[in-house]
Amino acid sequence: MTNAAQIDQIDHSLGIVLDPRLSAPFYRQIADQVAARILDGRLPAGYRLPPTRALAAALSTHRNTVVRAFEELTRDGFITGHVGRGSFVLARDGRGTTGAPMTRAPLAIGEDEDDGAPWVFAPPDATPPARASRSGMPWQTLLSRAVESEPLRRMQRLSAGGLFGDVVNLSRMQASQDLLPHRELRACIDHVMATLGPEALEYAPGQGLERLRILIARELAQSGIDAQAEDILITTGSQQALDLVARALVDPGDVFLTEGRTYSGALNILTISGAEVIGVPGDDEGPDLAELVELTRRRPKGLYLMPSSRNPTGTSISEARRQALVAWSQDAGVPLVEDDYGADLELDPGTTPPSLRARDADVFHVSTYSKKLIPALRVGFIVCPPAMRAPLTRLKHAMDLGTSTLLQHALAEFLERGLLRAHLERVTSAYRARRDALADALTASLPEGVTFRRPERGVVLWLSLPAGVDPELVYEAARHEGVLVSPGTVYSADLPGAAGLRLTYCAEPPERLVAGAERLGRALKNVMSRRHGARRVELMGA
Ligand code: PMP
Repeated sequence: MTNAAQIDQIDHSLGIVLDPRLSAPFYRQIADQVAARILDGRLPAGYRLPPTRALAAALSTHRNTVVRAFEELTRDGFITGHVGRGSFVLARDGRGTTGAPMTRAPLAIGEDEDDGAPWVFAPPDATPPARASRSGMPWQTLLSRAVESEPLRRMQRLSAGGLFGDVVNLSRMQASQDLLPHRELRACIDHVMATLGPEALEYAPGQGLERLRILIARELAQSGIDAQAEDILITTGSQQALDLVARALVDPGDVFLTEGRTYSGALNILTISGAEVIGVPGDDEGPDLAELVELTRRRPKGLYLMPSSRNPTGTSISEARRQALVAWSQDAGVPLVEDDYGADLELDPGTTPPSLRARDADVFHVSTYSKKLIPALRVGFIVCPPAMRAPLTRLKHAMDLGTSTLLQHALAEFLERGLLRAHLERVTSAYRARRDALADALTASLPEGVTFRRPERGVVLWLSLPAGVDPELVYEAARHEGVLVSPGTVYSADLPGAAGLRLTYCAEPPERLVAGAERLGRALKNVMSRRHGARRVELMGA
């Protein structure tokens, strides 16, 4: 391809997506999405926006629509225009589109988005204007296929559009701040620093601190997993554990299996690894065994599962299906990757069957302290199949030279002091109350045809939508009502996505969950009545 042809292929859309089904006119949708990108830093101060003609062409809309959007953005202080030179992003002065001091970031489903704290935006006081790039670097042609891949773009598409003020967050999958034991962790860090001093500040051994691995092995023994400290590899969050397993098994083009609906972060990792990801159809009990046997012919490199409280559905794989999965894995020679991200978050005791790893030492068992304790520890681990200990440890070293020594010691201290048990009692009883508050409020607020099952463990609940109701449309309508949910489309291995919404109940207190359910009920009624209206018109026209 010639350089000129490559340049012609530059994507001027800025990732903006126009949705004719929304009530907001196109110019407003463009202005909102550009403003959101400016506020979250994707379009930095000094960035030169595409010419209105190019943006209009990329969005298949009229140039005047883009001109109007740019006029709004100029009026609201987001951009400035210079005749002949183009429009540039202005440095933020801490004021939002309304002119009122801004306290909230534009909201988006974050993975969990999720995660991190993207919800509060504190604009810097005086950002020096960044220099506009004049190099003409052909970034669009330099970018790897992985960064541009569809699963990674889904998040960006859904995070478009600004929203300010009071929003109930039923999308975020992390504990609200009142459930994060910051004083206890601080005491542990202080103790580590006082007793170990500089030793706590060195690089950690490749497999992770032995002290911590022994404690984890003891914890696992209580849930029937017979692992020694040497089987355990400490990782930087379980996200890195998934990355390491993918890197250890996948060559570009290899098939990797997941459930039909699965964790979006796992889809991202597998896509980045170059795998062809195939979602295995299944039901509430787990993946369909006949489908798995059929798929064995594709020589998959592994099957990724969350047997206990699947993300996004909140259901767990049944005892019978677990036995069948292990038998299939051994027969087919395809390893299982068990993500036990919600370990110990059992809300109705005695309902979770033993893990896959408790039945088979060739299972990769991945887990984390993010959901049951503190996400910022960034401590996860893999119980490795014996033959995979050395290759995974080599990879881990190559990836980041080790997980924070200080935080591993602090976590070990936390566990040695017996603080985890007390903490778990507190969070599971809070999550039980939150689950019940949300479930009861949903029962009272949801329109007919929208159904859900009260989860027995974990922090997510799945709403099934009636056929023909688009989850992304509901996501948008809910956002406008002041409640953030996650549309099923982001959890689907192959498009089109599952018709449902994932709701979390860990990030908000009970009274806010009730308000969220009421707002969501209103949004659903709106979308569903519009749909009925549209169908009536269609039928009348027919
Ligand atoms: N697995 C699942 C199912 C998750 O939902 C998440 C995060 N939301 C992770 C793994 C990764 O979490 P972390 O890296 O914080 O351990």
